[in-house]
Amino acid sequence: MSIEEKILKTLAELQVNEAAAVEALFAEVRRFLDEDAQDPRWKSEPPQTLRNRWLARNNSILALVDENWLKSAPKELKPVAGREFNRLKKEAQAKAVLQLEPLAIHPQRAKERSGVERNALAVDDLTLPGVRRALGSFHPVTHVRREIEDIFLGLGFAIEDGPEIESVYYNFDALNIPESHPSRDDWDTLYVDAQTVLRTHTSPVQVRAMERQGAPLYILIPGLCYRRDNPDSTHSPVFHQIEGLAVDTHITFADLKGTLDFFARKFFGEKTRTSFHPSFFPFTEPSGEVAISCIFCGGEGCRVCKHGGWIEVMGCGMVHPEVLRHGGIDPQRYSGWAFGLGVERYAMMKYGIDDIQLFYQSDVRFLEQF
Ligand SMILES: [Zn+2]
Repeated sequence: MSIEEKILKTLAELQVNEAAAVEALFAEVRRFLDEDAQDPRWKSEPPQTLRNRWLARNNSILALVDENWLKSAPKELKPVAGREFNRLKKEAQAKAVLQLEPLAIHPQRAKERSGVERNALAVDDLTLPGVRRALGSFHPVTHVRREIEDIFLGLGFAIEDGPEIESVYYNFDALNIPESHPSRDDWDTLYVDAQTVLRTHTSPVQVRAMERQGAPLYILIPGLCYRRDNPDSTHSPVFHQIEGLAVDTHITFADLKGTLDFFARKFFGEKTRTSFHPSFFPFTEPSGEVAISCIFCGGEGCRVCKHGGWIEVMGCGMVHPEVLRHGGIDPQRYSGWAFGLGVERYAMMKYGIDDIQLFYQSDVRFLEQF
C-alpha cells in the first residue's frame, strides 16, 4: 500500500497498535517526503504546489495524517503520534521552504532579465550584468529562536504552539496564579475583555498541551507575549518567550538541572557553568533562577555581570501539582519540570546588543549585520 493510500486509513485500520509501529509508520512518511521533495516533476510546477500538497489546511498529506492518524489515535498512542507528527510537520515545512525559495527570487529574476534587455537595447551589449536585488535574511531573534529550538529538538522535545489571545483561565487560573497575584493587575496585563487577555507568557500552552496529549510530554513552546511595559532599552510590550516542559514518571529536579546545564553549554559554549538559586513562581514548586558564568569575562567580573561573575538567564522549577491537575495529569503518578526564557535577551547576549528596541525598528543597517 502506498503512503497516499495509507493516510486515508486510521491507525487501527492499518493495524498499527503500538508505539514502535507508529514510529516506523512516520519514518516511512518522512522517507516518502524526502523522495517527493526531490521529484523532478515539481520543477515544472509553481513552487507552492509542493507546499500545498504537504501542508495545505485541507486534504494535504499532513492534514490527512492529522485527521486519520493523530486525532483518531487511541489514548495510549496519542503522545507518540503527536511527537512524530510535529517532527514530520517541521521537516515538511523545511522542505517546502527550500522549494519556495525560487518564488522569492522569481519576480526579481524577471526584473533582472528585463534590465538586461533594456541595457541591450540602449548600448547593444549583451554581456552587461543585470540589476541584482538583495535577498532578505532571518531576523536575529528568529536566528536565536531556531538555535534554541534545535538544541531541544535534538533532545527529543517537540515544538508546541498556542493562541496569543488567551482566556483568563489558561493565562492565570490553570497556572495557579490567584486573583490576588500582582501580575493580574491590569498594569501588567493587556485585557481584551474581562475574560480574555493577550497572553503574558507562553505558559498557558503547557496546560493546553497536557490536556490534549497527556503524559509523558516533552515540549518546547516558543511564541510572542504581551505586557503593559513601557518600551526602554531592556523592556518591550511585545517580546518572545521560549518555555520548556517535561512531564513523565520519576522526573526530578536533577533532570531539570542536567538538561538546563547541557543547554547552557550548547548555547553559550562548553566552558559555561550554571548555578541555581531559589525563587518563587506560582506555577512551580520549588522554583529557581538559573545563572550562567559570565560569557563576557568568564566569571572574573565585568560591567555586564555587574562584577558578580554570573548572569541570570531564566526561571525554572518543578511543575506545581495543581498545574498538572489542571492539565488532567495525576500528580501522584507524574511529575515535571518547566523553564522559561526571553529570546530577545539571549539575542542581546549572543550578539552584544545593548538596546532591545533595535529588534523592532526594522532598520536595515542594523538587520543586515546578521
Ligand atoms: Zn562578566
